[in-house]
Amino acid sequence: MATVNTVLGPISTDELGPTLIHEHLIMGMPGWECDALAVPYDREAIARSCVHALEKAKAYGMKTMVDATPIDLGRDVELQKEVSERSGINIICATGLYTEAMGKSSYLSFRSQFGDPTTEIYETLMKEITQGIADTGVKAGVIKVATGQGEISPHEERILRAAAWAQKETATPIITHTEAGTMGPEQAALLISEGAAPERIVIGHIGGSANLQYHTSVLEKGVYIAFDRLGIEALQPDALRKACIIGLVGIGYADRIMLSHDYSGDFSVCWLGRRVELPDLAKEVIGHWHYEHVFKNIIPALKEAGVSDDKIDTMMVQNPRRLFS
Ligand SMILES: [Zn+2]
Repeated sequence: MATVNTVLGPISTDELGPTLIHEHLIMGMPGWECDALAVPYDREAIARSCVHALEKAKAYGMKTMVDATPIDLGRDVELQKEVSERSGINIICATGLYTEAMGKSSYLSFRSQFGDPTTEIYETLMKEITQGIADTGVKAGVIKVATGQGEISPHEERILRAAAWAQKETATPIITHTEAGTMGPEQAALLISEGAAPERIVIGHIGGSANLQYHTSVLEKGVYIAFDRLGIEALQPDALRKACIIGLVGIGYADRIMLSHDYSGDFSVCWLGRRVELPDLAKEVIGHWHYEHVFKNIIPALKEAGVSDDKIDTMMVQNPRRLFS
C-alpha cells in the first residue's frame, strides 16, 4: 500500500480524495517579525479562521490540501496539525525554501563563504522528510522549490539540485513556484538532470502564462503542471486560465494537470505582520479567491465547456494520488 505523510501521520494515497495541490494556511513574508507594530501571532485565532475557511471547501467534497509554505515563509507545523485535527482535512506539509529575492536567502549566502551549501540544504530536506520537522514528529510530504522571474539564480539552482537529490533518496514529490509564467521548462530540466523523476514533479503557477506553447513546452518534459492560482484575477483573469485548461484537456493532457488556488488564508487574520487594508478594487479582483472556488465555480465551468466528470476526477483525485504513489 502506497502511503503519504500528512501532518497527522501516514495515510494511504487512496484516502487522499479531491486534493488541492498548492495552498497555504498562513503567509509570513520574511521580515514581518521585525515590524514593531505587527499584530502579535495568535495561533488560536488563526486556526479558527483556517478551519472555518476549509469547512466551506469540505462541503464541496475537498479532502486534502498540500500546504506549500516553505520553511522560510512562516510555516507553522503545530498550526497545520491543529487545523487538520479540527477540520478533518488531510494536510501535507512541505519542506524546502522560497526564492532568493523573497525568501530567507541571507543565511545560505553567508554559509557559501565556507563552501558550497548545496549539501547542507539537502541535509535539511532529508532531516525534515525522514526524521521530522524540529521536534513536532511531523514529516514533510513534499519538497517546495522556487525561482524568480526570467532566471534561476545560483542560490535557487542549489536548492533545486538539493531537492532532486532528496527526491532520489526518498521519492518525495517536488512542487515548484514559478514567477510570472517563466522558467517552467528550465526548472523541470534542471530537476530531471539531477535525478528527479518527471512523474514526481509538479511545475506550479503555470497559469502565470496564458501561452499554450509555454504550457506544452513544460508538459514535454513529462512532468505535471498546476493551474494553482485560480481566483487570483489580479495576476491573470480566470477566463484565460479556464481557456488554457479546457484546451489542454481537449488535446489529451487531463492526466497531467492539477488545480488549486495558492490561497493564503483570510488576509485580515492569516497574513502575518501589520494588518493589511486592501483597497476595494483589490478585493474585487480576488473576490473568488478561497479554498472552495475550484469546486464551486471552476469545475462547473469546465463541465459546461464539455470536460467530462471522468477528466475532472483525473485532475482532482487520480493525479495527486499517482504523484504520491
Ligand atoms: Zn504558494
